[in-house]
Formats: sequence, structure tokens, C-alpha cells
Amino acid sequence: MIIDCHGHYTTAPKQHEGWRQQQIAAFDEKKAIPARPSISDDEIRDSIVNAQLKLQKERGTDLTIFSPRAAGMSHHLGDAETSAQWSRACNDLIHRVCALFPENFVGVCMLPQSTGVSPANCRAELERCVKELGFIGCNLNPDPSGGWWKDPPLTDRYWYPIYEKIVELDVPAMVHVSASCNPCFHGTGAHYINGDTSAFMQFITGDLFKDFPTLRFIIPHGGGAVPYHWGRYRGLAQDMKKPPLKDYLLKNVYFDTCVYHLPGIELLTRVIPVENILFASEMVGAVRGVDPETGHNYDDTKRYVDQLKIGAAEKQKIFEGNALKVFPRLAGALAKARK
Ligand SMILES: [Zn+2]
Repeated sequence: MIIDCHGHYTTAPKQHEGWRQQQIAAFDEKKAIPARPSISDDEIRDSIVNAQLKLQKERGTDLTIFSPRAAGMSHHLGDAETSAQWSRACNDLIHRVCALFPENFVGVCMLPQSTGVSPANCRAELERCVKELGFIGCNLNPDPSGGWWKDPPLTDRYWYPIYEKIVELDVPAMVHVSASCNPCFHGTGAHYINGDTSAFMQFITGDLFKDFPTLRFIIPHGGGAVPYHWGRYRGLAQDMKKPPLKDYLLKNVYFDTCVYHLPGIELLTRVIPVENILFASEMVGAVRGVDPETGHNYDDTKRYVDQLKIGAAEKQKIFEGNALKVFPRLAGALAKARK
């Protein structure tokens, strides 16, 4: 089975994002928030069948771990209540996709984060998504300010209330920034990769996993700059008198394969143990074009993993085994879908 651990609902029916614009306008003008638009099952089916589901079939993947559009989370807009309303709307829509296509999609939620507001306010929505909607993980934004980095690092006790709930529910968190509102940082080209890299360095600096030995993070987009600069991070950790990174972080930190060329995936799998790599494509996402050098979509990452000169057992870990380990609720969700 081929599990893509990183996909967003980038193709949601237009009225969903339309409502978001109305919601933010109403917030800014201090007016009442409009009612949610109606979205039919057929509209949801159409938005999936001709996009993510079509690509799953064409590329030979089986299941996408599916979450709301990442740039759309935009935790910097409005206030905590704005984020709470938007999170519920987005997570409910993911749940409807998963209910319509239970064998192809399993849900991961966004959290109602808001800059300067304790992540304790995300506990109830995470619990609702996991216990009531059957979700198996969450996306945690390390920078709800959208490129200004106004909140403390992920190792700060500020974040502990949400970690306690994540651990209690036994779900992993993907470290995933949202839109950049800092013009210095292009969203998917700089802010995303910065977020991934910064999170890893924060984990080196702090001693978070001493307090939360079972907390698990997936750093997406191949771990940002981390695998390429692995020697730098090993050396920095050594200078800080930290244990070797393999012992210090790799029981808790995983990387996905959203790296859009073969040499990048080769490097990732040479540097990072295969036990810490989860297959992902982030389709339909940041990079939608065709690579003229290969004639295939950049984000068709399965092709790169297929071409790796590693054993079948190692590939099975990347494609399936590691996801089942990192997302312990996935096996149950799949068994339920197949009933
Ligand atoms: Zn993403």
C-alpha cells in the first residue's frame, strides 16, 4: 500500500474560500459573520475526482493523509475566534471528503491557532477532530504570525498545553507554516522551507523530547534545508554538548519526501535513516508544473522513490510502514474504511 502522508484540499469548492473572505471582511468591519454557504456532496466529489483522486490513480498511490489547504490556514488573520470558526469549517470539509472516499483519504486537522494566544485554545478542536471525526493527526503552525515569528520557539513551555493533548491522543503533528505576509519570504519557496529548517534547529536547541518522549513531529518538504546541511546540524549539536542527532531527535522527528527532484530524494535517503522518512507528494499543491527534463510532474514524488537504489523492504517502510508507525490511528481508520 502506498500512503501519501501530505496532501491538502487545495481544490475545495469556491464558496468555501469565498466565505473565508466574507468572514475576514466582517471581522475587519466589526459586522456579523455570514452563515456558512451550502456545499453539496456532488460539488465535493467533483473537486476530488478530477484532481487528487485522478492523480492517485495515475501515479499509483492508494491513500492520502489529507488536511485543509496550508496557506489558507492564515492564522494571522482575525483573532482566536476567527481561527476557531475557520478551523471548524475547514476540518468539517475534510471530514466530508474522507466520508465520501474513505479508502482514499484520511483526515488531519488544522488547529485554531492565533498569534499570542496560548495553544491551549487548540485542545478542544484537536480532540473533536480525532475523537468525533476520526482524524489521525494535526498540522501545527510554528509561526501563526505568518512570517514575522512572533511566538516562542516550539521547545518553549508556551506550546506544552497542545503537546499534552497531542500525546494523550497519540497523534503526530506535521510542522507546517501557512501563508507568508512578510514580503521578504515567498510563501512556498522561502517561508515553508524556512519553517521546516527553523523547527529542526529549535528541536536541537531545546530539550523538548525529554519532557515529551513520545511526541512525534513530521517535518515536511524533505525537512527543509536539514538533510542537505546534516553535517552542520550534527556539528552544532556537538558544540552544544547534545547527544548525536540520531539518538537525540530521530525517535521523535520524521521527514517527508516532498522534494521535487531525484537527486534531492537520493540525498534525503542517504543522509536520513529510512525509518525516519515518510512518502509524501503534497499534490495538488505548491508546484504544479511538468519538469521539462523528465516530462513528469515535479510533485510526482513516487517516481523518485521508485528509482532509488535501495531494497524493497526499505521502500516499503517509506511508502507504508513508517506512516503506520507514526500515525498509530491510521490502521484503525483503514480497517473501518474497508468494512
Ligand atoms: Zn503542505
